Amino acid sequence: MAPKLLSSTNFKSLFNSVDTFLFDCDGVIWKGDTLIDGVSQTLDLLRSKGKNIVFVTNNSMKSRRQYAEKFRSLGLASVTQDEIFSSSFAAAMYLKANNFPKDKKVYVIGGEGVLEELQLAGFTGLGGPEDGEKKAQWKSNSLFQHDKTVGAVVVGLDPNINYYKLQYGTLCVRENPGCLFIATNRDAVGHMTDLQEWPGAGCMVAAMCGSTEKEPIVVGKPATFMMDFLIQKFGTETSRMCMVGDRLDTDVLFGQNAGCKTLLVLSGCTSESNLLDENNKIEPDYYTSMVSDITKLMDS
Ligand code: PLP
Ligand code: CA
Repeated sequence: MAPKLLSSTNFKSLFNSVDTFLFDCDGVIWKGDTLIDGVSQTLDLLRSKGKNIVFVTNNSMKSRRQYAEKFRSLGLASVTQDEIFSSSFAAAMYLKANNFPKDKKVYVIGGEGVLEELQLAGFTGLGGPEDGEKKAQWKSNSLFQHDKTVGAVVVGLDPNINYYKLQYGTLCVRENPGCLFIATNRDAVGHMTDLQEWPGAGCMVAAMCGSTEKEPIVVGKPATFMMDFLIQKFGTETSRMCMVGDRLDTDVLFGQNAGCKTLLVLSGCTSESNLLDENNKIEPDYYTSMVSDITKLMDS
């Protein structure tokens, strides 16, 4: 069915049929480090009406603790770590859920957030943002060494990606028997600042696909892995959840894959013409310009 523009009439029925609102972050709550207008009031309103609120972000650069700090710094102090589900956390939870042995290590092409979540889950992480600065070993013509006890490589957004890290991750995946190749997410682009989108984790993951000739296990949206936690946590049927996001191939698909209602906001990476383009196959139930429209529609 074609997506419906949110209106005062259809908003009431959506609102009454939903207990839990899942919010994507970049393009919905903030752009880079800038809060989107009216978000704070809308979150307060939803809480005052007894709705559960959850944040689901594919950006793996931060841990849940670091995201809670970011919410606080943007004036959203009521958001707790428990309400935040990041793809960095999902990577650690995936390993835990699959009984990843504690004596194996995890090599990370990604940010501090992944290393912190791995550590909190009791795993030993290697690599991370600072890895590989001065290790261009091919120049010395010596054999490049990697740790044979690495049992998983996790790849996420890494602004410091380099050739050394790719060699390290590639050797682990190709040569360590049974080594897992996990992607936090495959977003094409995202906001590093509010002015502009930058390449997302998708390009780092694609580099590793190229060299390993393997496809990763994806734990972020649109994969259903994070949804299993949300279902457990809230005990709510997914039909009484609404996923609010700005990206069709991650957020809307994530909601649809799990049987949630879906609301696309046009404050991020998708324009109305992208949405209504005849070649677009991913259609949310509803769309509106931004999250704060919820406050306006509630008052109307
Ligand atoms: N910003 C950047 C730079 C990203 O690379 C990504 C995902 O990798 C995102 C944002 C996605 O974050 P969200 O799921 O909150 O939209
Ligand atoms: Ca987004």
